[in-house]
Amino acid sequence: MLAGTVTAFSFMSAGTAQAQGALVMYCGVQEEWCRAMTTAFERETGVKVSMTRKSAGEVFAQVKAEAANPRADIWWGGTGDPHMQAAEEGLTVEYKSPKMGELQDWAVRQWEQSKNRTVGIYSGALGFGYNTELVKSNGIPEPKCWADILGAKLKDEVQVADPNSSGTAYTLLATIVQLMGEDKGFEYLKSLHKNVNQYTKSGAAPAKAMALGETTVGIAFMHDIVTMVVDKAPIKVVAPCEGTGFEIGSMSIIKGAKNLDNAKKFYDWALTPAAQKIGAEAKSYQVPSNKSTPVPAEAPKLSEIKLINFDFAKYGSSEERKRLLSKWDAEVKNLPK
Ligand code: PLP
Repeated sequence: MLAGTVTAFSFMSAGTAQAQGALVMYCGVQEEWCRAMTTAFERETGVKVSMTRKSAGEVFAQVKAEAANPRADIWWGGTGDPHMQAAEEGLTVEYKSPKMGELQDWAVRQWEQSKNRTVGIYSGALGFGYNTELVKSNGIPEPKCWADILGAKLKDEVQVADPNSSGTAYTLLATIVQLMGEDKGFEYLKSLHKNVNQYTKSGAAPAKAMALGETTVGIAFMHDIVTMVVDKAPIKVVAPCEGTGFEIGSMSIIKGAKNLDNAKKFYDWALTPAAQKIGAEAKSYQVPSNKSTPVPAEAPKLSEIKLINFDFAKYGSSEERKRLLSKWDAEVKNLPK
């Protein structure tokens, strides 16, 4: 009787999901996709999942703060850079899934570069979108390039997330630095700052604001903007003419995971076509990492976008990520407009 009470209590108390059959997941994609994955895995395995959605930089900060007594077992989704940083800082563990042989080269490279601690689960390019009605009514030329969103006509009309919390916005920071060089890149970001109406916490928020007509331009992953277009928002998606960066959304197992076997079970399942297909069903249009998962028809075609040769190892390293974020805070974020 007493043992039964204790078991029931420990099962119910979120945060200590130690009972057999549980899994604590930190999820870095859109809430709808996180929930769909949770439900499907629970149905498939009977494992009870406790899921929290947060932006990439926020998950990293939480995993680091909890390192002495980890709460989470698996970190699924979100841009690869904080996963790489966590790997380097020993916050996640090595794991080789039997599914590795089914993955695209870029997904395997992510795993190799992290010394087997994080794996690619999807990829997608960064870009921006604009609200076609607002552009028309305000006589703004349709922007096609990164350079086009600096104009005075877009003052307070561009929205993007804060790179400290958002993997999307960190991808922008690292993309601009690689595309233009660091000095010119920071000059660009300072000019852009004059047009930014808000640095949001989450990376996809500017796409939603654009759909509501709250901002004319939103910088985000192109697939997150496509979601709004599918929902019939008056938005055009742009692959910037100068070239752009991309992400390798990643997955890692937390060091000290209390439900390690279930974390591995989830990891293997999340690499299957059946699990990866859930993305498109939840209106997330990335390119999946398993070669046999159908690429959603709506997914921006990476082969048709001018992509930079993104250095994931460098820009995911602890030193470079910390340095660039502090520099952005000091030189861009608090600049008067
Ligand atoms: N939403 C989706 C569908 C994504 O693919 C990603 C990045 O992997 C994000 C959101 C990023 O979220 P954030 O920029 O809030 O970290």
